[in-house]
Amino acid sequence: MMGSTRLGRAGLPQVDAVLRLPSAEPLIGRFGRPALREAVRQRLADLRATLSERDVAPTAERVLEETAGELARLLGAAIRPVINATGVVLHTNLGRAPLSEPATRAVMTAAGYSTLEFDLATGGRGSRGSHAADLARRLLGAEAAHLVNNGAAALLLAVAALGAGREVIVSRGELVEIGGSFRLPEIVAASGARLVEVGTTNRTRAADYSAAIGPETALILKVHPSNFRQVGFTEATEIAELVEMGRAHGVPVVHDVGSGLLGPSDIGALEGEPIARASIASGVDLVLFSGDKLLGGPQAGVLAGSFAAVERCRTSPLARALRIDKLQVAALEATLAAHLRDAGPEELPAVRMLGLTVDELRIRAESLAALLGSGLPGSTGVTPTRLEARVGAGSSPEVTVPSYGVAVTVDDPSRLLARLRLGEPAVIARIADGRLVIDLRTVAVEEEESLAGAVRRALRDDADPA
Ligand SMILES: *Cc1c(COP(=O)(O)O)cnc(C)c1O
Repeated sequence: MMGSTRLGRAGLPQVDAVLRLPSAEPLIGRFGRPALREAVRQRLADLRATLSERDVAPTAERVLEETAGELARLLGAAIRPVINATGVVLHTNLGRAPLSEPATRAVMTAAGYSTLEFDLATGGRGSRGSHAADLARRLLGAEAAHLVNNGAAALLLAVAALGAGREVIVSRGELVEIGGSFRLPEIVAASGARLVEVGTTNRTRAADYSAAIGPETALILKVHPSNFRQVGFTEATEIAELVEMGRAHGVPVVHDVGSGLLGPSDIGALEGEPIARASIASGVDLVLFSGDKLLGGPQAGVLAGSFAAVERCRTSPLARALRIDKLQVAALEATLAAHLRDAGPEELPAVRMLGLTVDELRIRAESLAALLGSGLPGSTGVTPTRLEARVGAGSSPEVTVPSYGVAVTVDDPSRLLARLRLGEPAVIARIADGRLVIDLRTVAVEEEESLAGAVRRALRDDADPA
């Protein structure tokens, strides 16, 4: 067949002819014969379906090459580490909060057999997450706590357990969508409760809530609008006032604070974030938040509050469907323990990154710029630059954290952005004012050397596209 081109489906090689190629030998060793055979068969079936009679059929070698590339991509891990140079600390697409070292070790421990639901003292059954729930309860000053898979699950469980078949009162200013298909009215509907909207988009007063309370009212729900902020002629009812009203009518109050800021913070960008502990202190029946936002832990949902309300959630038929996974419990336990020891800022990377001063970042940016600046091709420039970082994960997008990094001036910043993304290690930067910027707030000091190497390689390849 050498030299002759064959057209259409009839020109396609047989599966066995592809597998008999000498170059198939190492691939069989790498992927195993059954997997390679199946992938080749699939590839040929796809070609048979798409090749027209005038198309040149690919050779056996070509089919093998393409199949091997596909298999390598398929079998390789799709989740790879990246250097986050975006300045968005809780970057949802990059995994939100990076875990602390103790939390990472805890995940490794829980990966094998563990005491997940086993009591070593008695040899009997233990309860999953009871230790982490106890830590959460203590941290918040609540009577009890329960853990679920994520923040959305916490809300679904709370509303279903306390409100299914009855009415849930929510302010019109809080009927928000919080990214990735989380829409409050839809979650309430899915829980089996009926949503009763009160107030207007911009103003909801205590009287609006009290007028809506009736025999069918199961709970009052207050939701932090997170990524959405109202300015101007606005009014919302304080949680303490809602608690008072709930008590007067025997109606529980649930507060979804979203990001799990436990106590007051001196980080400017967190001003206005609801404080979970304050919410419990004001007497809410349940406070809800995520594990991987400002708490700095794994994906998880925390429900904390009164014995009665937590017990209803814990014993709901939905609790099992929404339960937390063992790797999450392990990481959450370590994260909560760090907060309880008051070690948050030293131990938890996200908390630490948010607390870095502009001065320390500026010093790091100056040395990185100096390191990168020598021996650069012609028009390329690297300068230390003042930047605006962001909290991320549903925190107000317009609230920024003053930051520092380096700006790289090149002819085509988008091309450099892509080169950095596709390099090893992958670096996720951004473009601002026509320059590529690397924000150091989200880069660990230990990552700086490999970051510098990656930028240098990307600049070299950019100047010399081979
Ligand atoms: C982020 C957020 C959620 C969803 O939490 P996930 O952990 O992402 O499921 C729910 N409510 C509020 C107010 C939030 O900010």
